[in-house]
Amino acid sequence: MLNSVLKTPVNSGILPTQTDEAGLRVYGHYIDGAFSASDSGAYIESTDPVSGEVWSKIARGTDADVERACASAQAAFENPEWRSISASARGKLLRQLGDLILENADWLASVEMKDNGKLIAELGNQMRYMSNYYYYYGGLADKIEGSTIPSDKPGVFNFTRYEPLGVVACIMPWNSPLPLTSLKLAPALAAGNTVVLKPSEFTSASLLEFVKLVELAGFPKGVVNVVTGIGHEMGEALVSHPHVERVAFTGGPEAGRIINEQAARSMKRVTMELGGKSPNIIFEDADLDQALKGAVAGIFAASGQTCVAGSRLLVQRSIHDAFLERLVEFLEDIKFGHPSDPSTQIAPISTAPQLKKIEDYVRIATEEGARLVRGGKRASVDGYPNGLFYEPTIFADVDNSMRIAQEEVFGPVLSVIPFDTEDDAVRIANDINFGLAAGIWTENLARGIRMTEKVRAGTIWVNNYRSTSVTSPFGGFKMSGIGREGGIPGMMEYLELKSVWISTNVDIPNPFIRR
Ligand code: NAD
Repeated sequence: MLNSVLKTPVNSGILPTQTDEAGLRVYGHYIDGAFSASDSGAYIESTDPVSGEVWSKIARGTDADVERACASAQAAFENPEWRSISASARGKLLRQLGDLILENADWLASVEMKDNGKLIAELGNQMRYMSNYYYYYGGLADKIEGSTIPSDKPGVFNFTRYEPLGVVACIMPWNSPLPLTSLKLAPALAAGNTVVLKPSEFTSASLLEFVKLVELAGFPKGVVNVVTGIGHEMGEALVSHPHVERVAFTGGPEAGRIINEQAARSMKRVTMELGGKSPNIIFEDADLDQALKGAVAGIFAASGQTCVAGSRLLVQRSIHDAFLERLVEFLEDIKFGHPSDPSTQIAPISTAPQLKKIEDYVRIATEEGARLVRGGKRASVDGYPNGLFYEPTIFADVDNSMRIAQEEVFGPVLSVIPFDTEDDAVRIANDINFGLAAGIWTENLARGIRMTEKVRAGTIWVNNYRSTSVTSPFGGFKMSGIGREGGIPGMMEYLELKSVWISTNVDIPNPFIRR
């Protein structure tokens, strides 16, 4: 069924698969069930990071486009077609969407690859797994129960109920566009909200293909809307819009801070999934073969462009030199190439600004006195002269106070930091403003448990790295975020709790005195 659904025109207006005279795909906003150009008529160009060629144009949103999308979402929230259906019926719609995702996973993966250059082998798995987000939250939709409260006040019956918030604005980054959208969209819809989605200006295409599936699954018009554009140009209109009750943001700490401040002005609820500088801690008693693979997976998978990148490798001094040597050796025969080739291990960096940021941090690290052990330059790959490839890069002799140890690079740049004792490892791991994730490698069970208690991060992996699941909550301590996505806590973020008091004794003894 590959692509057959997506070839079917399901809307009037501009279809996302329309092409212009130059052969570029043209993508519009998706508002109230139809695709449309931007209010200004302007577009942003989207570039394939492998060929360096522009392949599509995305509507460059304005405040007026945001206004249309929020009005559509608010109207859909008030429309009985959505508001009055049962939680079970909502769950069924979500499961139907999950089925459609499975049928179209390869197609969605190929569009996402074109935008961010990630390995198709990883993207295909991600897209297939993404159907579980809709199955999981579809199943949860009718299982969120209020409670009856054994009240200490006579003559009243008190119970609680959970209700949807209303319109939710979701803002996403470019590194995993559809999975990060789905972590917000699935629970928000299961809870009965309506949404306005704002993808990254670098990777909007896959979401605009995906929304066709939302419509095919049977969601009423206006329940899901997409506005595209440049964050700082139209972001404030969305974040501070009076219809928006919650802002769910995944992205960098800088944009997160701005959005959090803007949302606070009108007391909006926020979920913030921000960056990290996660410690991956290798003790001398670890299974070093596994720890080696864990270190590589932590920082060089997806070229380090993951929020949970284990970008600070803390290695016990007794094994430090030998482990570093093995790490460099492990990377000797890695294969760069086109992300669609299943044998490729290293794909390009997703965007030109991100590549520049990586180069800037490599220069900063060198100036700070860190010792470059490997990489530190662009990789030239046969057949792709304009590809944004970068060598896996390792710095040793890094002091935890250096900028290369304290700031997120979001690229394949590893800082190796030696430590002596367990306390030393904990101190270095926690001496940072972030707290997203941590890896601990040890065969000593008691030490493993002690470390999970002492290291301050939202996710801790012992003898593995990068495991995640829709069933488990994910989020950050400190500057890494606010709130949780995934699991039951991820659903509760999209619900408001109401306490209801019903009199079982109509006689109000004295209206001037509170009982
Ligand atoms: P970014 O912060 O530059 O942009 C993210 C999104 O925010 C984009 O859609 C952008 O258009 C929008 N945006 C930017 N400024 C805005 C503003 N003023 N108002 C409203 N919207 C605005 O991040 P990025 O470069 O796209 O992504 C990389 C970052 O995302 C990294 O820091 C990474 O750690 C983080 N991330 C976090 C998680 C997590 O779950 N914690 C997951 C993936 C990525």
